[in-house]
Parts: sequence; structure tokens; C-alpha cells
Amino acid sequence: MAEKIKFRPHHFMCTLGFRGKGYSLGFVRNYKKIAQQLNDNEETQIEVVQFMDSICSACPNKIDEIVCKTQDKISKLDAAHSAALSLKVGDIFTWKQAKEHIKKNMSVEKFHTACHGCSWKEYGVCQQSLENLIEQP
Ligand code: SF4
Repeated sequence: MAEKIKFRPHHFMCTLGFRGKGYSLGFVRNYKKIAQQLNDNEETQIEVVQFMDSICSACPNKIDEIVCKTQDKISKLDAAHSAALSLKVGDIFTWKQAKEHIKKNMSVEKFHTACHGCSWKEYGVCQQSLENLIEQP
């Protein structure tokens, strides 16, 4: 059985929009591996966690298992995404279910509010990925 992934709330949307960019070589390598695992097997399980997750584990901004160098921003993103997607710590989704959940619960308008303050937002790939998902039959 595939290894269970852990995501803090805002990383569901980030993973939908991930295009191989990130904070360091190690971060990108780790993220690509996670994205590959999810896309190769959409039944891979993902557990919602409150603090450091499978993506944070290789982030150069990580300080310890609880906080990172941009904690204020990250806490706001997590709170906003939890609310927008009605996520609770301990929830478990397969990647397939997670995408269905995003499609049902996230709109472009909600995305702009939930992702406010993220430096990656201006590149447009996250919005584009969300629009593509919403448009899928
Ligand atoms: S804009 Fe930022 S927080 Fe929002 S999905 Fe993209 S990378 Fe994640």
C-alpha cells in the first residue's frame, strides 16, 4: 500500500497548482516526488495535519516541527483554506477525493481570498489549475 501523505490545509490547493517550482532544489525534489506519487496513484491517502507536513519536511524555511520563518503568513493561509474547504485536522482523503472536494468547494473568488498574501499567486498557475479542474466534466 502506498505511503500516506500529510498535508497542512493550504497544501491541497498548492499541489493542484504545483508546476515544479519551489524554495530550493531539495524542496522541489521532494515536492516532485509527492506530486508524482499522487498523480501515479490517485488513491494515495492524504491526512490533514496542523503543522509540518510531507511538503514542509524539505523546506528551507522550516525551523522545527511546528513553526517556519514565515509562520504568520502560513497560519493565515491554513486558516483561510481550512474555512474555504471545510477541512479538519485528521480528515483523510485520497487525492482523487481531494480534487473532487476542491472542485465542489473552491471557486475562483474564494481562491483569491484564501490565497491572499501568497507570493506564488501572481504567477497565475494556481488559478489556472483551479479553473481547469472546475471546467472538467
Ligand atoms: S497561490 Fe500560494 S497558497 Fe494559493 S494555491 Fe498557489 S501556491 Fe498555494
